[in-house]
Amino acid sequence: MRLALIAHDGKKDAMIALAADFLPLLGRCRLIATGTTGTRLAEAHGLTIERMLSGPLGGDLQIGARLAVGELDGVIFLRDPMTPQPHEPDINALVRACDVHDVPCATNVNTARLLLARWSEA
Ligand code: PGA
Repeated sequence: MRLALIAHDGKKDAMIALAADFLPLLGRCRLIATGTTGTRLAEAHGLTIERMLSGPLGGDLQIGARLAVGELDGVIFLRDPMTPQPHEPDINALVRACDVHDVPCATNVNTARLLLARWSEA
């Protein structure tokens, strides 16, 4: 299982808490993340994560490129709907790439929990 993890600043604590509940699964996955999200997750949980650039510097696009060539099985993307993001076009491109390639993409915690619970059973 190859997963990408991304959280906007207002959602990083939620990502840490979410990951805490699925550590056995995440420990079995090959993980990539945007820069700061990856650093936070590695520090909090000791996960091994390939870190891309920070989102505003192109990290979402790097993840989208991996996804487009079939290198990702799922994306957990905790977006902050209340805060404008400078890299909104990159965010939209990544979510669009998920739809183009039919890759599961959770953009809120409850959807992420459903996907992670399902994948934990696999
Ligand atoms: P970050 O990027 O993990 O480097 O903060 C996430 C984003 O803003 O897309």
